[in-house]
Amino acid sequence: DEMEIIDDPKDLVKRSPIITIMGHVDHGKTTLLDSIRKSRVVTGEAGGITQHIGAYQVEHGGEKITFIDTPGHAAFTEMRARGAKVTDIVVLVVAADDGVKPQTIEALQHAKASGVPIIVAINKIDKPTANPDNVMSALSAHDLTPEAWGGTTPYVEVSALKRLGIDNLLDIILVLAEVEDLKANPKRDAMGTVIEAYLDKGRGPVATVIVENGTLRIGDIIVIGNTFGRIRTMNDDLKKRYDEALPGTPVEITGLDQVPQAGDIFMVFKDERVARQTAEARSSKLKETYIKQQKA
Ligand code: GDP
Repeated sequence: DEMEIIDDPKDLVKRSPIITIMGHVDHGKTTLLDSIRKSRVVTGEAGGITQHIGAYQVEHGGEKITFIDTPGHAAFTEMRARGAKVTDIVVLVVAADDGVKPQTIEALQHAKASGVPIIVAINKIDKPTANPDNVMSALSAHDLTPEAWGGTTPYVEVSALKRLGIDNLLDIILVLAEVEDLKANPKRDAMGTVIEAYLDKGRGPVATVIVENGTLRIGDIIVIGNTFGRIRTMNDDLKKRYDEALPGTPVEITGLDQVPQAGDIFMVFKDERVARQTAEARSSKLKETYIKQQKA
């Protein structure tokens, strides 16, 4: 397999965890993502004006945490269906007043199926009708017994709206990430996953990617699915420019010849000719599959 490059253990360093927030509609995923984004200390950025690129990083206790900024598990499901496994930890949001709902169960089943550890965030604890115990017992029936009840699942009570418990949530994420022992090799050529992509009138094809291994640099020759390119610019959601993006970093990139798909894997190639051939071979293979499907 072209992706399987064995890293020398001595080159491996800690990489920041990549988090997806899932849960039932209206339980507060978007509000929580906003609240976490606002929790970061922005130094020097005028007003901290952000643009949505589909992923962002915050610093907490001297460590970086990457959040996939697409609420709802449609993106997660789609990516998983395409074989991408970009998430290290799922934060399952459950509204304390509404309790466990069908999409809560669906979300936890997706997380379990991909073997990703779950942190339960009981949200809306500011509400007078909040009933965290209700959430804990309902989820215990689905193998998510709280640590406080002798289980192994971390729970945290938050109010995304009032911004309560956010620090606790970030603390717990870092503890779990430590247990997961996430490592990457910044010395190798980069690989990772596309989170979002679109065609920009001025900049051409734009894609938000998360670097999972290696270091991505300006000028790198890149293949994403059947798309070929050379990295022209990289920036984050604060419009900060990057010359290089280390493992765990989400960046918006330009310099591609086509718009890739969310969930596509990207790889950096040393040799432009090999990269072009790989993209073209994939392209004709895709066409072949398409023609076969049309005939069938
Ligand atoms: P999503 O569909 O899961 O992304 O949910 P949203 O983030 O859009 O939130 C749905 C509604 O719940 C909005 O009206 C939010 O203002 C509200 N909400 C979210 N978090 C809280 C919270 O912690 N407390 C209260 N009282 N309301 C919240």
